[in-house]
Amino acid sequence: VSLPVTTMKAAILVEQHRELTIDDVELPAALERGQVLVKVACSGICGSQLGEIDGVKGPDRHLPHLLGHEGGGTVVAVGEGVTYVRVGDRVVLHWREGAGLGCEPPSYRWRGKPLGAGWVTTFNEYAVVAENRVTAVPADFELDLAALFGCPVTTGLGVVRNDAALAAGESIVVLGAGGVGLSVVQGAVLAGASSIVVVDLYADKLRLAAELGATHVIDGADGEVEDALRAIVGADGADVVVENTGNVDLIELAYRLSKPRGRTVLVGVPSGDRPARIHTLPLHFGKLLTGSHGGDARPDVDIPRGIELYRAGALKLAELITDRYPLVDINRAIADLRAGKVAGRCLLEIAD
Ligand SMILES: [Zn+2]
Repeated sequence: VSLPVTTMKAAILVEQHRELTIDDVELPAALERGQVLVKVACSGICGSQLGEIDGVKGPDRHLPHLLGHEGGGTVVAVGEGVTYVRVGDRVVLHWREGAGLGCEPPSYRWRGKPLGAGWVTTFNEYAVVAENRVTAVPADFELDLAALFGCPVTTGLGVVRNDAALAAGESIVVLGAGGVGLSVVQGAVLAGASSIVVVDLYADKLRLAAELGATHVIDGADGEVEDALRAIVGADGADVVVENTGNVDLIELAYRLSKPRGRTVLVGVPSGDRPARIHTLPLHFGKLLTGSHGGDARPDVDIPRGIELYRAGALKLAELITDRYPLVDINRAIADLRAGKVAGRCLLEIAD
């Protein structure tokens, strides 16, 4: 299946610790079996991409490459063997595997040389992705809201249900209220948590957390955060503590602050080499510590459920999008995100 477009604008990570380069990129000439061409309408930006730019996992052997792992778009062409989506379908682009065929990452070219890309990238006008990275949504479902299902919402709800197995009446503390943290709050509301306590450094984020259902919010800059938290959830700690920032001090706090038989879920990835120090004895007596991988979300199952929740009024989506930038301003968006100026999810608007 040959492609109806040959070039597109894209944001390219050329070197770590540098701004992204916006330039024209060549698409492959044809779709391979299992591939889908999507016109990307919008994309979220999340901590993972900042981590890739900062090299939190070490030197990047795949440079230069494209970025972005959560988006909403429209299917423009489908390769052989594709059965789950059709031309014209609105889809969520999700970094985790859903239903359908897998395939090799696409072969883009930039300035005459190969340009790396994973199974899904979204800081580009078009994306060639494996069928199992797209999930169709109803024809009238807004693509900006769809983009939220590509990472933060499915992760946040999955953290509560799959990683933390939060039961009705339990308490939860959420450290860091970005797109995922705010979605953890909504997941906790849906699960019937008794108290939902959110800690963040930014007043805008705390306000949004309270709007979405947090029962208590704490300014992390106010000295004795741990005391303040224990005063709310009890001296024993909380049933569940979710850490979204990757800050090692907060990872240690999260573990300390979960009850003797509580669950600590790490969502944020540490950005430095400093190891976390924890007292391991409680792990032998029922305390659980786990690192989340996207909340174990299954896009093909969880996105349709999320849309039903949204339609029933039980899940807020539009409120999560607080800032919008065109693709050409992506470096400004990233700078604002780093500076804590983005309260909810930052959305890149890529095409109409
Ligand atoms: Zn993400």
